[in-house]
Amino acid sequence: MSKLSIVKVRLERDVNCYIVSDASTREAIVIDPGQPAEKIIEQAGNVTVKHILATHGHPGHVGGKDDVKAATGGQTGIHSADAKQFLRSADHYLADGDELEFGEFKVTVLHTPGHTPGSCCFLVANHAFVGDTILAGGIGKQSPETDLRRQMMSIGTKLLRLPVSTALYPGHGPATSLEREVAQNPIFRGAGVRA
Ligand SMILES: [Zn+2]
Ligand SMILES: [Zn+2]
Repeated sequence: MSKLSIVKVRLERDVNCYIVSDASTREAIVIDPGQPAEKIIEQAGNVTVKHILATHGHPGHVGGKDDVKAATGGQTGIHSADAKQFLRSADHYLADGDELEFGEFKVTVLHTPGHTPGSCCFLVANHAFVGDTILAGGIGKQSPETDLRRQMMSIGTKLLRLPVSTALYPGHGPATSLEREVAQNPIFRGAGVRA
């Protein structure tokens, strides 16, 4: 049974990039390739990057994708709705339920619209990389394209279906768990979403 390795790379605008790899085959995915791309490329020096995935199209989360692709040869992926919203191109346009392989692991795409129309969470075993859909103690900063109602619906219908032990790796700030957020995150108070 292979082991998963998760390395967090702190980027500009306090964005968290994650390099998630199969510790035995060293095949990896990069989640949220912002800037500076060099920092990501350096951290990915000893893995083979298969996929470079953006949780959504905000520049801080995707601005380094072409540089990371050029250096590592990984295939880029973003949800089609955010490719359209932010005029971004990619090798693959992601859709809900897509599965991509790296090493002995697979990453499953959960389309969780709200923060942006094409926001996604990426699930690897019991680890969820949630972008700005949910942060420890809050949610990502709202932007003109944020639809808060839709975001709460996505959290309720997609994230709350996962086991409570699921670890959450947000696009900003510290890692947390579903259990902890359901108990403590103010968004679950009075919002009509229940675990
Ligand atoms: Zn964002
Ligand atoms: Zn963000």
